[in-house]
Amino acid sequence: MTAGPVKAVSESSEEGGAVLDGPSRPLLSLDDMSVRFALGGRRAGETVHAVTEARLELRPGQVLALVGESGCGKSVLASALLGLLPANAWLRGSARVGGAAAEEDIELLSASERVLAGRVRGRRVGLVPQSAATHLTPVRTARAQLAETVRELRGHEDDGDVDELAERVGLDPAALEHYPHELSGGMAQRVAVASALVADPPVVVADEPTTGLDRPLVDRTMDLLGELANRNRGVLLITHDLSAARRVATHVAVMYASRVVETGPAEEVFDRPWHPYTVGLLNALPERGFEPIPGHPPALTELDALERKWGCVFCQRRPDTPGVAACDGTTELVSYGDRAVAAHPPC
Ligand SMILES: [Zn+2]
Repeated sequence: MTAGPVKAVSESSEEGGAVLDGPSRPLLSLDDMSVRFALGGRRAGETVHAVTEARLELRPGQVLALVGESGCGKSVLASALLGLLPANAWLRGSARVGGAAAEEDIELLSASERVLAGRVRGRRVGLVPQSAATHLTPVRTARAQLAETVRELRGHEDDGDVDELAERVGLDPAALEHYPHELSGGMAQRVAVASALVADPPVVVADEPTTGLDRPLVDRTMDLLGELANRNRGVLLITHDLSAARRVATHVAVMYASRVVETGPAEEVFDRPWHPYTVGLLNALPERGFEPIPGHPPALTELDALERKWGCVFCQRRPDTPGVAACDGTTELVSYGDRAVAAHPPC
């Protein structure tokens, strides 16, 4: 999985994929990872609790969907892994990314900008950004931009490399001659996915990759990510779109108010959710009646005080629901087999 020529999907995507559970080495492991932002100006002294004590693992062959409402901290978590947070952020805990067998892990949260730029971004961790169209430079063709990434990450470039990448993501290489404003949303998203695959990184982080796309394009983007996992890469899919997550996720982590509140194999969590927040998210899906979760998530600047008072801050969101106000749950994740849940043990 070192930087090198990318194999065509058709050569290596076996039927059924190769989901390697169990003893395979994690590609990415987060251990008690926290992110805080110190506010300034009129709000000096306040702290945003964006990510709190996240513990996650991503293994070869997995698509781990990190789901939750916007503002719960999931995109901050993704940016932190790539060293893309502003200067007022501080980080605790660790996030280690592996490489090929002989390569040592890199601890991302303490890595210098030199290490992140030279060894991590694009090489060990590819990023599919939130808005592909705005991520591209407007004054250069898609081909010129992709070719530049290929030169930077592979040290050489020819048109064949760029065409092969385009074909790998289902894009007609002729489309690369266009400028970003001439590309449809789906085409721009494919260029972004192709850029993330240039050095064949073991981990791909896709941060809300379906924003602004219609459903057929959402499905195609998800399938591209699923194919990566079938080739033994690991995909961390950040999304508020549960329908998209259901399509490809092998595993799910549900995030609420800066904390992961439930994790497990995707099918089990979607079919039998344990945490009332996961239940609420699923009930808000169109096919389950579109029932929104009442209330709003708490302000991330007040989490510390709220958690000290209530423990489970989700049930505090819906104190009118009979039986729920009595929840005295903790924020700690408790494991049951290959699943884990905070505050609300399975009945
Ligand atoms: Zn509760």
